[in-house]
Amino acid sequence: MPELPEVETVMRGLKPALEGRRIEGVLLKRPGLRFPFPERFAERLTGRTITSLSRRAKYILVSLDSGDILLIHLGMTGRFTVLSPAGARNLGEFYFEAGAGEGGEGSHDHVVLGLDDGTRVIYTDPRRFGVMDIFPEDETTSHKLLAGIGVEPLGNAFSAEYLADRFRGKAAPLKAALLDQHVVAGLGNIYVCEALYRAGLSPRRKARTLVRRKGHDPRLNALVHHIREVLSDAIAAGGSTLQDFAHTDGEAGAFQQRFLVYDREGESCQRCGRKIARLVQSGRSTFYCRKCQS
Ligand code: ZN
Repeated sequence: MPELPEVETVMRGLKPALEGRRIEGVLLKRPGLRFPFPERFAERLTGRTITSLSRRAKYILVSLDSGDILLIHLGMTGRFTVLSPAGARNLGEFYFEAGAGEGGEGSHDHVVLGLDDGTRVIYTDPRRFGVMDIFPEDETTSHKLLAGIGVEPLGNAFSAEYLADRFRGKAAPLKAALLDQHVVAGLGNIYVCEALYRAGLSPRRKARTLVRRKGHDPRLNALVHHIREVLSDAIAAGGSTLQDFAHTDGEAGAFQQRFLVYDREGESCQRCGRKIARLVQSGRSTFYCRKCQS
């Protein structure tokens, strides 16, 4: 499943091809993805100019000159292909890996946007857990999928003080507390495992144990630092490209080779040599070192 860095990578890949372009045609090849497409979906997109792209949590937000926002979630296997017309504009090598997209004709190609410069943007999603919706911009904070989402982990509001405030009195394991989307937006399993290892914190300790009567355990500062760092490193590497995921230009991201604990059960810890352990928390695998993380 794409996590925050992958979504950021896809958004950044789409940006140069979409921003400033007018949508001339919309082809919906089925009535919906995870949910039915909203009413008049194609009509509200057609003829509109794309003013900007951004990301909130794991959602891509496409702003239109009508004041509407097109919201996109990639689900488990959603991906985009940008096919630029030969010579129309140099968009770089936008294509998709062989066999995965067929120019909008493939059985898993569900949405095709035709842009005014001849570019076609194709949304492919074999498992169809993706989401597309359209809503007025002023509903951004109240939209059912966006309301109550926590701070962005790469934004200025994310700090040790913020976490201490949210962790006060919380008996949930630290890992679960960090995965709570109401606390931190878009933070997923892989990057929480990696950040906890780098910060030397056990995923099992109660979140409240890092909070002091006044202030917090200094390791909370380290945790914030490492969360920002693992996410930034992954974005710089172009996302981790696990399983079915690939980003818009079809290149595999390189970050997964750099995971220190994730998916490394039984391998030696790079710090102490003990075997990396795995446990299941809230239905998700946690990878950690019993010696280095407390
Ligand atoms: Zn260790």
